[in-house]
Amino acid sequence: MMKLAWLELNGCSGNIISLLNGSEPGLEYMITEMVDLVYDQSLIPCEGERAMDALFSLLDGEEFILAVEGAIATRDDGKYQIVGRWRGEEITGVDAVSMLGEKAVHVIAVGACASHGGVSAGTPNPAQCVSVQSILNRTVINLPGCPCHPEWFLSTLEYLLNYGEPQLDAMGRPVFLYGITIHQRCERRSYFDQGIFASNLGEPTCMFLMGCKGPITPIDCPIRKWNDRVSWPVQANTPCIGCAQFGFPDQMEPFITFPPAEAEPGGL
Ligand code: SF4
Repeated sequence: MMKLAWLELNGCSGNIISLLNGSEPGLEYMITEMVDLVYDQSLIPCEGERAMDALFSLLDGEEFILAVEGAIATRDDGKYQIVGRWRGEEITGVDAVSMLGEKAVHVIAVGACASHGGVSAGTPNPAQCVSVQSILNRTVINLPGCPCHPEWFLSTLEYLLNYGEPQLDAMGRPVFLYGITIHQRCERRSYFDQGIFASNLGEPTCMFLMGCKGPITPIDCPIRKWNDRVSWPVQANTPCIGCAQFGFPDQMEPFITFPPAEAEPGGL
């Protein structure tokens, strides 16, 4: 069975929490039927040197896939981000991503921070956080989202295991997930086409004039939904804030605007 290592770097660990919330399949299926999960800070039962040995034994062993969530802190030689001590040396996030990323069969950047810096690289970015791709001179499969949907990760993992690398767009995102914008499949699209726009939260019409980022955010939230297909932001009456788009959060702000009542609909 293919081995998988999951690094949690500069971020909130929201992507591993999101993965734990998956159900089709769930984490139990992933670690029993899909991959041998050899390391993740939150889930590994051992600690200290033993945990570091489990992680870095991959450098001399069988093939493995590396998943990284969180950005990589580069300021002061990465000393703001110590993953652990191994063989007497402090291992920074830069070290871990560089060593493991060069050896891995595939590298997956899970979530916004790993894919493009995300919240961790938001202004003023005091730890000088960067994406996984900024560290590695190789193909990195980016799964932006804050957090990454568990099925975005698991479907990509399944594709890698069965067919190899999926078709990626210019930003390293799998086309089968990120090929169509939210706006193209939104349940409020007919209101947009008729120029019927909401000016307050709770109105059932299109939230384009409230700053909805669905038109510029390619991902499948309208049909996949979240939390076991319960709902998604537009269904829950909030504009899309573009969390799955590169540049989130800084370039997606403001997340919401309240247009004057007499505002005329704008075109795209
Ligand atoms: S609510 Fe957003 S995603 Fe939906 S149709 Fe309007 S602008 Fe597009």
